[in-house]
Amino acid sequence: MELIRMANIYMAENNLENAYILYMKFMVLFLEKIQSHPEYKTTSPTLKQPNQAKLKEILPITEKLKDRLKDRYQKEYTQFLARKIEDETNMVKKSEKTNVVSSMESISKDDLELKPVLDKPLLQNVVYPNDFAVDTKSGSTNLLLPIKPIINRSLKPSTSLIEGSLRKIVVPSKLMQSFLLLAKLNTSQNIETCGILAGKLASNKFTISHVILPKQVGSSETCVTENEEEIFSFQDKYNLITLGWIHTHPTQTAFLSSVDLHTHFAYQKMIPESIAIVCAPKYNTTGFFCLTPEHGLEYIAQCRQTGFHPHPSDLPLFTQANHIQQDENAKLEIIDLRI
Ligand SMILES: [Zn+2]
Ligand SMILES: [Zn+2]
Repeated sequence: MELIRMANIYMAENNLENAYILYMKFMVLFLEKIQSHPEYKTTSPTLKQPNQAKLKEILPITEKLKDRLKDRYQKEYTQFLARKIEDETNMVKKSEKTNVVSSMESISKDDLELKPVLDKPLLQNVVYPNDFAVDTKSGSTNLLLPIKPIINRSLKPSTSLIEGSLRKIVVPSKLMQSFLLLAKLNTSQNIETCGILAGKLASNKFTISHVILPKQVGSSETCVTENEEEIFSFQDKYNLITLGWIHTHPTQTAFLSSVDLHTHFAYQKMIPESIAIVCAPKYNTTGFFCLTPEHGLEYIAQCRQTGFHPHPSDLPLFTQANHIQQDENAKLEIIDLRI
């Protein structure tokens, strides 16, 4: 549902590529991948129903999006060709006049003909489920073939999910202090406290507007959330996307432990701008962290170990988040679901 929420926001912002990618991710996940889940066949249809309904809802939207994107790429390609011809014509004009005719001919033959636009672009590896119909009884659909990661280094939009710089994420200045106040009792007993950072995307900038403290069980170096459905339904109600998490290190410094790295992976995978805030009251410091996009993200994705475990230290797995922006005037609400 978070994927869909995020995709809807991209749609509203007219960021069609990112919206399309997220809708596709949702479809791949719930049409194809989910079927290999060990509990898929024993899960009751009632539980599957909301996702099935969502699939039916987004399928036509995604199909339209695909057409619009194709249209756009086609137009861009036509413009590109027109520019190319113009450039080459100008060059020809500068060169000897006797060559003009033959040069023009060599350009037009190859280039004027409109080739399919989607030679090597975004949609290359996507097999689109046009004939969407899930056979829930047999549980087998081969409508979607495995999708390879779509990484095309030549795609340039800076706001793309595929690559590019991170958008700013606004953190209300009072957030850390307010959170520490609610964590105080735990902290005094050397127990960690954690919370979810939620907010909105508007004008290409994320803003954290809510901290949600879920029911949780903490220890001196861990914090496990419980009843996560409560968080989701709250976010659903107010249309809030997850922008990361915050937790205390009651006696340690501010850093990301191996367990923290794995926890954060899930957040950052969903939204590349997601941050992990670590409050270390004993040292009076706060860290704003994220996995290094060029190494940490990929490494943790591959790491299958659980619990506290060593990671190689040759390259940094996490780093200070440089895309945060503290705002003294930003509003903040804290939702404490622990009581
Ligand atoms: Zn930690
Ligand atoms: Zn690991």
